[in-house]
This record gives sequence, C-alpha cells and structure tokens, in this order.
Amino acid sequence: MRIRFWGTRGSIPKPGPATVRYGGNTSCVEVRAEGTLIVLDCGTGAHELGQQIVTANPGPMRGHLLITHTHWDHIQGFPFFAPLFVPGSEWDVYAPHQMGRTLAEILGGQMHRTYFPVPLGELAATIRYHELTEGVFELDAVRVTTRYLNHPAPALGYRLEANGVAVVYATDHEPHSRHHPDVRGDAARVHREDARHIEFLAGADLVIHDATYTLEEYPGKLSWGHTPAEWAVDFAVAAHARRLALFHHDPSRTDRAIDELLTLCRQRLPTAGAPEVFAAAEGQYLVVVRPGSPPMAAVPMVATTAEREVPQNKTTVLVADDDDGVMAVIVETLEPEGYRVLTASDGEAALQIARDERPDIVVLDWMMPKRDGLSVCRELRQDADPKIALVPVVLITGRTDAQDTIAGFDAGVTDYLTKPFKPTHLVARLQSWLIRSQRS
Ligand SMILES: [Zn+2]
Ligand SMILES: [Zn+2]
Repeated sequence: MRIRFWGTRGSIPKPGPATVRYGGNTSCVEVRAEGTLIVLDCGTGAHELGQQIVTANPGPMRGHLLITHTHWDHIQGFPFFAPLFVPGSEWDVYAPHQMGRTLAEILGGQMHRTYFPVPLGELAATIRYHELTEGVFELDAVRVTTRYLNHPAPALGYRLEANGVAVVYATDHEPHSRHHPDVRGDAARVHREDARHIEFLAGADLVIHDATYTLEEYPGKLSWGHTPAEWAVDFAVAAHARRLALFHHDPSRTDRAIDELLTLCRQRLPTAGAPEVFAAAEGQYLVVVRPGSPPMAAVPMVATTAEREVPQNKTTVLVADDDDGVMAVIVETLEPEGYRVLTASDGEAALQIARDERPDIVVLDWMMPKRDGLSVCRELRQDADPKIALVPVVLITGRTDAQDTIAGFDAGVTDYLTKPFKPTHLVARLQSWLIRSQRS
C-alpha cells in the first residue's frame, strides 16, 4: 500500500510560516493499493490531491472516498475535489449513517447556493453514496473494516487490508476512559470500548491516529472528541502496531511544537517492541510493505456492513437523572434530533417507565434517589421481556475510578459516559448503540 498525506491538520486550515513542515491543510490521505484509489477524508488537502489526479489522468477514472465524519475539516475539500467534475468518472462516497439525514443531503448542505456556486447535483462525475455502520466490506482487493470512534458526531475509523498489510485510519477519537488504564502493558482494560479500539488497531503496519492534544492540555478539552498524543502512543503500543503517525495536529501547534510533542511521545515508548512514531506531514509519502508475511487475521466484527434505511418510527429514549439541569440539556438535545424522550427523576420511576414503555435505549445517572443507576440496570437485565432485558443502557457518571467502571460493566451497562460530556457526544454514542442493537 502506498500512502500520501495531503492534509494533516485538525479543525481548521492553518497555512503560514509556522506550519510549513507539517502543513496547514485539513485531513486528507491518499491510499493506493493494487490499482485501487482510496481517499481518506476530504478536508482542504483534497484540493491539491484532486489537482494532481486530474493532471496525471485527465480522462474518466474511478475512486473511493472514505469519510470518517462530516465535520467541516473532513469534508471542506469535497466541492473543490477536481475529479468529481470529470464527466464519465465514477466515485463512491462512504460515510457513517446519520439518523434523519442522508449523506447526499449533508454533503449537499455545504454546497447550497448560500455557500457554494455549484450544487451537488451538478457535479459531472457519477457519484454513489454509501451510508455505513460497523462492519467489513471489499473495495476491489482492499478489505475495509469500519469501527465507531468516540466523537461528538457519528464517526467511523477505517482499517484497510491488502497484500497482508494493514493500515488503520482513526482520527477524531477520544479515549473512553478518563482515568486511562495502563494500556501499555497487558493490564485489563476497564472500558470495553477502549479494548475494542485497541483490537481495531491490532497488529497494524501503520496506524494514523488522532493526536490533537498533549496530555497537559487534555483536562481543558474533555469531551471535545480527541486523543492526547501520549495516549495515542499507548494505544499503538498496546495494539502492537509497527508504526504510528500522529495526525490531526491542533491548529495552534507550530512545527516546532509538533517536534517537541514528538520527542515527548518517543520518550514514552517502551525499550523493546515499540512502534516507530512520527508526526504526519503534508506531502509525506510512505510505502507500507511487510515482505513475506501472512495476511492479517480476521478482526471479529459485530456484523457485515449494510447501507441502512433511516428508521421510520420515532426512537424512544428513557432518560433518568435527578439533576434538573442535566436533564433539561439532554431533553433539549435529543428532541430536535427526532427522539421521543421519556424522563424519570429517580430509579424506581425509571424502572417502572422502562417496563411500561419498552424504550429503545436507556440513559441512567449513576447516583439517583430510591434506586441507583447500577441497581436499575441489574433489574432491567433480569426482566422476562427480552426487549427490556437487552435494551442498551448508557450510564452517566462523574466517577472516574477504574473499579467503578468495572462495577458498571458488571451490572450489565452497555456503555459508560463520564461527566462532563457534550450533549452532541451523547447523541453520537446513542446513535451507535441504537444501530448496533437494531442489527443484533
Ligand atoms: Zn477533525
Ligand atoms: Zn470532528
């Protein structure tokens, strides 16, 4: 596999003398494997990539665009990607399924005449849109595995495998554990989703990973949906990856500051078996090979990826929290997204409403009057009605102790959200659990 970075910056383009070496363009990575062209994200780096493609090959061509999520810095180059304007060309565009809006509507939104002169429907290439969940699919000779990332929008990471080589692209992801268990060793992971993330990176020849913050900055950025660079290193070490590219550089990080961060990250590496760590730079070209090695073992997956229909019925969410302020924020976030929201202010009421209304997903505060969230969860899991016994339960808590997290999972909690969190983060997590539960 051949890789070229066209944009390595996060959030907003940052050209200028202080970002010359690592680059100012936002996320865009070109991947070539066995004649297949894959473009990972379509940030502003896609402009120059597009120019190069049409210069080298002016005629019709075929390509695949894999988008992690539709935040600006990952789609802003889409209307400026020249191959989309070539008649006879065919492009398949993939992104996570979002409830309520199609991918074409979302991409078309930024091309509304208010913002851009050419509407989506007038692009000359044939464009097919694919809305993804977690799973596995093939793009010619490349096997693509998708996995949800932890971000305030539905976001997917991509694992690409071809010729016995694996490249993982996992940007815009925040670790689930705030207390960060020692992922460098073989210690038990306290958050299952972090363990799944490490499994997703496992044995990769190259991991391109979110490394937006430093560990020092992180406490001020909780729930923004990004990884401190030092923890990206820990994930790569735990996953036994061969190389790690620090990616999605903070727009405020100068070239010199990235050098310093890189030094910090390298100091963190164990003495033996450590991955090679570098900071992704715009224009950098890599050939990823593993001579003579067998193909990667299959990663266990939830199910095969399918293009999903938008659910017709309103999804019912039961939210139980005795804090009126938190409750108001959650309700005001979920209702405009089209959810039917039921509320309870104590554990007994939550249990009763769950039995009466059979919600599609339950959000529980840990500390509540009458019955705490763990106890409610244990009761739900014992229910004779399978819809109630298997309902996804998201526990909200301010507790960050590892033992508390383990207690939550032992009680049958599906996911675990630590305060403070952004409401958009909750929506993204709920969507991923709803989609997973609908498929099981
Ligand atoms: Zn981003
Ligand atoms: Zn983002």
